[in-house]
Amino acid sequence: MRLWGRATFIRRRMLCLWLLLLGFALVTLALSDLFNRDWGHSDQRPGPPQRPVQRIPSAPDLEIILDSRDPALELGVDLAPLKSLQEDQLLFVPSTQGTKNPPQRRGSYKVLLPGAGKDATASPTHGEMGKAVRLHLEGTERDVELAAVQKYGFNEVVSTRISLHRRLPETRHPECLGEKYSESLPSASVVICFHDEAWSTLLRTVHSVLDTAPKQYLQEVLLVDDLSQHGHLKSVLSEYVTHLDGVRLIRSTKRLGVGGCRALGAARAAGEVLMFIDSHCECQKGWLEPLLERVAQDRTRVVSPIMDVIDWQTFQYNATQWPVRGVFDWRLDFHWESNPQMQDKGPDSAVQPVRSPALGGGVVAIDKHFFQSVGAYDPGMLLWGAEQIELSIRVWSCGGSMEVVPCSRVAHLDRHHLPYRLPDQEQLQRNKIRIADTWMDAYRKIFYRRDTLAHFIRQSESPNIAERLRLKRSLGCRNFHWYLTTVYPQLYIPQDRPALSGELYNVGTGSCADYPRGQGPQGGAMNVAPCSGTGSQHCDLNSELEVRWGPMGALCLDAKGETVVLSPCPTHRPSTSRLQWKFIKLSGQLVHQESQLCLEAVKEGGSSQSSPREVSTHTNTGSLFLRPCTHHPRQQWHFEQLVAPKGA
Ligand code: UDP
Ligand code: MN
Repeated sequence: MRLWGRATFIRRRMLCLWLLLLGFALVTLALSDLFNRDWGHSDQRPGPPQRPVQRIPSAPDLEIILDSRDPALELGVDLAPLKSLQEDQLLFVPSTQGTKNPPQRRGSYKVLLPGAGKDATASPTHGEMGKAVRLHLEGTERDVELAAVQKYGFNEVVSTRISLHRRLPETRHPECLGEKYSESLPSASVVICFHDEAWSTLLRTVHSVLDTAPKQYLQEVLLVDDLSQHGHLKSVLSEYVTHLDGVRLIRSTKRLGVGGCRALGAARAAGEVLMFIDSHCECQKGWLEPLLERVAQDRTRVVSPIMDVIDWQTFQYNATQWPVRGVFDWRLDFHWESNPQMQDKGPDSAVQPVRSPALGGGVVAIDKHFFQSVGAYDPGMLLWGAEQIELSIRVWSCGGSMEVVPCSRVAHLDRHHLPYRLPDQEQLQRNKIRIADTWMDAYRKIFYRRDTLAHFIRQSESPNIAERLRLKRSLGCRNFHWYLTTVYPQLYIPQDRPALSGELYNVGTGSCADYPRGQGPQGGAMNVAPCSGTGSQHCDLNSELEVRWGPMGALCLDAKGETVVLSPCPTHRPSTSRLQWKFIKLSGQLVHQESQLCLEAVKEGGSSQSSPREVSTHTNTGSLFLRPCTHHPRQQWHFEQLVAPKGA
């Protein structure tokens, strides 16, 4: 009995133990399921942990989808080189002239058809305005505008209030108005590529071309959609375009980027001269004829109008001062350079074109056959950036020329920021690497020292430029030395001597000499800031004893009283002793030749006198002054070269 009782007792305890174990196992299972579950996909089946489903980022809240019947376009960015000129990848929307459909409504969205409300301020029911109104419910007017700026890089709300047919004030030189052009100019195909452009700016560009270009020279306007995602650029745009005479819409099913998109437009163009125009431009009266005339006279001439500027905040139109020409610096960034000294003071100087080492991408006119024969755009340069510099070097080196034509003016909307995201930060550098390795010969080292990101990318990968090098050989293009000496002799060629060039590092503050951004090409005060390591603080102490600063090397270390500043370097030698510095390697002192004082970094808010107590106080921002020479660490400098490319 006792034995039986004991056995029962043991069995019960075993049972309890089993139950406990079972309960524990169940709880563990439930918990692990809980943690493995992807809450965005709650229908996921329980079981072994699965790979999380890749989520497609949802459309931004501000997006208005106009027509749900639109077939979904391919998402993401295709980076394959341009191979998409096959017919099957394109959707052509031919212009159906003379259609008399009345303005239509799609949901709450009223489509303003072309011709309606000419010269009137855009109606508040205008497509993009609808978006703004919706936004308005969610915040103040200021918030609405901020959201628009963030989305487009300009104040799109202001843009929607401006007529699609606004007239620009006359800014051409009076002598231009009397100019006569040939009766038989070649025909033009205006190619407008766009990716997610705002409705108002895109259509204002199109209407401005139609309103200003004489019909007899305008073969067509080709709108090329580079895989836009915004709803208003889908069927509503297709429909709008069918009501415009001579406008065709081509849609690419691959994201081509600026160069690829233009090459596609060019391949479809019927006109003799290609006019590449950005999707946010406004043409001044009479802009087309002077450009066509210059190309007609010499088919290897590539020309640009004076690019006026539309303000990204106010949409105010600002005329650019003549003369102006396009240039680029050693970081391969493009600039328009307004320089009154450039002007030849002859009687025709206001109407005479000026040769230009480069042209911007905003508006370029080029003969179609010349464009194709000189190699169109480099198909290896993807998405955005530096393609206009590549075209410029190539055109000049391979037998063409470039100029700005002053009697033609087109305004370009200079945005606050690029509205589309590049897939990685390095795309622009990769485009520049192609230019450096294809066109710059040994001079490419100067670029790599000033763009260290490009240098490091180049160290780990080689661009595939074999095709472009073959083209260069087959066209018999000249070398970069020829380009620099013949076309662009104004560009300073840095010497970049070891230990006398690089970031100017200050021992006492642990920071580098720096030129605060936004002070412009005329110069301003220098300071010290954290060393960037990107090449943006690179300078070059040359054999003329000038410390040349910036990617152009056109600013020189100078002194105004005891303050150290940058000012434009002399274009004619010799340099004055005010701009000359001697570097004493042993002590690290940089001695100003005129005053015989030393360059000293002074920490922010600190005493301007060297005192031993301050040695231990490390700060990394401050100003630069001239001081009597001492051996204080804040007067000790090193030129730190960040990059020594192969063979440098
Ligand atoms: N663009 C394009 N595909 C892209 C990026 C830009 O078709 O991947 C268009 C863009 O809409 C514009 C032109 O190419 O009409 C030049 O680009 P953007 O205006 O952004 O260059 P920026 O004038 O700022 O240098
Ligand atoms: Mn642009």
